[in-house]
Amino acid sequence: MAATPELQHTVGKSASLSGTSLHTGEKVTLRLQAAPVDHGIKFKRKDLQDEPTIDATIENLKTVERATTIGEGSMRVHTVEHVLSALSAMGVDNAIVEMDANEPPIGDGSASPYVELINKAGVVPQEKARQIFELREPISIETKSGSLLVVLPDDKFRISCTQVGPEGRFSQFYSTEITPAVFEREIAPARTFVFYEDVQPLMEKNLIKGGSLENAIVVRGDAVLSKEPLRFQDEFVRHKILDIVGDLSLFGHRIRGHVVAVKPGHGANAELARALVRERTKTLPTLQPRAFPPGEGGLDIRQVMEILPHRYPFLMVDRILGFEGDTKISGVKSVTINEPYFGGHFPGHPVMPGVLQVEAMAQVASILMMKITRSASRIGYFISADAVKFRKPVFPGDTLFIHAELTKARSNRLAKAKCHCSVNDAVVSEGELMFTFLDK
Ligand SMILES: [Zn+2]
Repeated sequence: MAATPELQHTVGKSASLSGTSLHTGEKVTLRLQAAPVDHGIKFKRKDLQDEPTIDATIENLKTVERATTIGEGSMRVHTVEHVLSALSAMGVDNAIVEMDANEPPIGDGSASPYVELINKAGVVPQEKARQIFELREPISIETKSGSLLVVLPDDKFRISCTQVGPEGRFSQFYSTEITPAVFEREIAPARTFVFYEDVQPLMEKNLIKGGSLENAIVVRGDAVLSKEPLRFQDEFVRHKILDIVGDLSLFGHRIRGHVVAVKPGHGANAELARALVRERTKTLPTLQPRAFPPGEGGLDIRQVMEILPHRYPFLMVDRILGFEGDTKISGVKSVTINEPYFGGHFPGHPVMPGVLQVEAMAQVASILMMKITRSASRIGYFISADAVKFRKPVFPGDTLFIHAELTKARSNRLAKAKCHCSVNDAVVSEGELMFTFLDK
């Protein structure tokens, strides 16, 4: 039984919000508009000729200094992270964000004004399922400035974050699942904060005209300066999580995974969004299935079955791709959902058992042994396995490449082979197998 797919959502009606932009200090009105399925989030500059729109995607990222700026050609939209964070966390997949300036209103420096705006507009389901990126394996990025971000497979979208200020001041940790209710209550109200030493040069250059203690918390030494007292004792790390949600939304797909972030920032967050794009591209179906011509030194399934006695459901190789000299062999196995073991391993979560990958290595390696002994009247029995490691899960739809290299052939009775299986050029399992030869 399949779970009901999550649907895409947009806003129920348009709603707007006015305020001051942070960097230019100009008055700006932002209006949220509904958009059709698969539209994503786009910003529209109403103040420019032809009212250009731009996709809020990582491909359009321009700069990450202090805020996240996207652009196309000469058009820019600055400081998009707070409105994107609110849209993503509150479940809005498709919307147009219209503005009559190059930056959204800064409000109180938090995402609460956007959450209120989204609540005013309403969030309504659409007729198509949401694209959710489910992580298969951990991915991570590290920057020269000491940021480390990891995403671990998880069945929810969670963030665990450590904020570290200059000289380790105001180090804070917070961990939470991101749901609309949690975001609205625990994350959205957290305001932007700045360290005095970082903004002083900007204030001198008059680069943050709209900045004030009404829309940011300023930390000077150990003192916290703000118009209103701290909203949470750990408000800074909560704001860091708010920014991560906004920046990662540039990935363009919902994430099922646990983000662990140490000292995050817009640059590091964007790098992680790029890594997610790369990871997702790897799992997309190959448009042109690789064809393996018979001959070319390989063996087709008929020839494989002449050598191996194994039959359904235990034949673990579809084709031998080729031999390299007398010591190397590679074979291939297409893993489909019709493999009998997927029914029980595991119901609702099919993963190829690691021991069957070892069996695949053994079958491919024994074909190599057979070639060396030049005898089909003897069969190689698999007698031991050493240093077996299962590195990554193998799923239906994967093409398993099986490689074996003969490392030792003692007499013609015993042989040792170093083997590994790979999927998408990544090693998924490995081991050293020992064989003995017996007459059939
Ligand atoms: Zn922020």
